[in-house]
Amino acid sequence: METLCAPIAKGGKNVLHLKSHNEAIKLKWLKCLLAPIETRPQWAFFANAILAKAALNSPIVKHSAKINPFLQTWSPSQKRLPSHLRRIIQTAKKYGTRWEAITINPSIARELPVWFHIGASADLNKLNNHLYAACLRDNHLATSVGHIEAIANRNSPLHRQNKNCTCNHCAQDRTESRCEKPYKCTKLAQSILRCILPKWHPLTSSPSYSLNIAPEQITDETDENDQNTMVFDPTYPSPDSLSSGFRVFVSSNTPCNTPASQAPKPPGEQPQLSIITIADTHKVDKDGFHISGGGAWFGTNDPRNKSIKVPEHLAAPGAGEIVAILSVISTLPINVSLQLMIKLSVLRKSLTTNLANLEDIDWLDHPNKTLMKSLVAKLRKRCALTTLTDVGKSTDKASYKHAIDLAKNGMIKDKHDDIMIKVDAPDELFGVKLCIGTQRLFFKNIRNIQSKSKQRRETNMNMARTLHAVGEVNDTTPISDQVWLSIRNKDIPKNIRGFLWKSLHGAYKIGQFWDKIPQFEHIGQCGLCRIPESMEHILLDCGKSLASRVIWKAAKDLWLKRETSWPEISFGTILGCNLMTLRNSDSKTKVGATRLFKILILESAHLIY
Ligand SMILES: [Zn+2]
Ligand SMILES: [Zn+2]
Ligand SMILES: [Zn+2]
Repeated sequence: METLCAPIAKGGKNVLHLKSHNEAIKLKWLKCLLAPIETRPQWAFFANAILAKAALNSPIVKHSAKINPFLQTWSPSQKRLPSHLRRIIQTAKKYGTRWEAITINPSIARELPVWFHIGASADLNKLNNHLYAACLRDNHLATSVGHIEAIANRNSPLHRQNKNCTCNHCAQDRTESRCEKPYKCTKLAQSILRCILPKWHPLTSSPSYSLNIAPEQITDETDENDQNTMVFDPTYPSPDSLSSGFRVFVSSNTPCNTPASQAPKPPGEQPQLSIITIADTHKVDKDGFHISGGGAWFGTNDPRNKSIKVPEHLAAPGAGEIVAILSVISTLPINVSLQLMIKLSVLRKSLTTNLANLEDIDWLDHPNKTLMKSLVAKLRKRCALTTLTDVGKSTDKASYKHAIDLAKNGMIKDKHDDIMIKVDAPDELFGVKLCIGTQRLFFKNIRNIQSKSKQRRETNMNMARTLHAVGEVNDTTPISDQVWLSIRNKDIPKNIRGFLWKSLHGAYKIGQFWDKIPQFEHIGQCGLCRIPESMEHILLDCGKSLASRVIWKAAKDLWLKRETSWPEISFGTILGCNLMTLRNSDSKTKVGATRLFKILILESAHLIY
């Protein structure tokens, strides 16, 4: 069932998973509930009122202090909620919904509700229900940090610490707000402001940068075509409104109360710019292991040149480049400006024009999510400029060749390199931005969380062999998504498409399938040679099967009428032949031969079966 519900590019059939579908709808309701007032649907106002009414008995929260349980430390009692609303709140909890930011613009920090503030010290608990807190709320109408800050910061030379003070602020409070003891309220406001932790305090929430980028330096999407060099923007993102601060699928349990910050500039003169060419290589070996290598080229005989082997669990197409950059920035001083020469435009765009979008969806479906999150955090930390240049448009082709050679050397190393990918807690951004979420996006995330542990072992093995076989022929290794999509190609007859899908999943009732069924174990053996059966055995290995010998011989004879050599056919070749392109000696694609090859392989295999 889990397999059928997976997306097509992950080997599934995209069958609707009802429970996840319903949960995704609940998250869409949640998005409406937490939408800004201007766009909030009418029901959400009632729902918020119901939430306020259903507040738990502890802590005691006065009615005028309740604004939003997701922005304050009080919560509603689930028992007291109507069932529909209860399910929304339960789903919100289950998938880690939180107001979450790594830095907060002062203007947004001022908008946050001050009572039961989500980022305050424990001392605030005593002040929330203080005698004069009621006056601040009901007479001064103070709800946000900004209000309290304005009251706390009033300063008049005439002000006296007594109730008869005649300064104009106190006089105004007495007449307009009907406040009896303005000096007490002012004092309380100051105490409250002291409880707000640095990350959330308007004066300290925004980090100071040692590196400032002028806005015109930052590449935007419109002029990307004529730009070879893009600038990495080191500014830490902050929500631009209260409602855009809500994030869902937040994977850390406790919010971090320290703001993200750039490293301070070390004393002394700024070192020279470093120009580094980055390259990567990737393949799947015959045992199904992914191997990625990364190379960083500084110059001839430069001791800083790097050949890197990516750890197996992080290896993926593109991983080598990211790891090479990570390794470079871990060894260079933090104030060296970098000019990175990179071939892949995906990586250049992920770090510049697409960065904000990718962070909003928490790098969903990105093959190198962990590495990219680490790279972005580490680049932001540096106090020197990072630029990314398209190596394809540069005149220096030799450097790229050197970098590729370094990457290839990395791949053949015995041991992988250790790479620091851990991100400091304040710098890591978690979760998906709730306000940009669609039902589809929520659904995909829910499915990803649920299917992580449920991958079929046999599918993974067959996939690895397929990737290897295609890699051998094409010289570049595809990703598994491409294989799944390739076997749905409309050029293939429908029954063969089904045959390939089932074979990739090992879903036919042959071989090991019967080992688990008492008294039927013998069916799991090849009827001709009495060894454990598998699809591979039926199609290729069975020496006693007449069908396989005759059919493969016929296929070979037919092939040799046009071509000179018949390649060795493995199980992976059969599963992956749709992605293979045959080339002649001067590396031109042989269209006709490729097509014939596919037809021969697929029809033969299916016929034998
Ligand atoms: Zn006064
Ligand atoms: Zn007052
Ligand atoms: Zn056999």
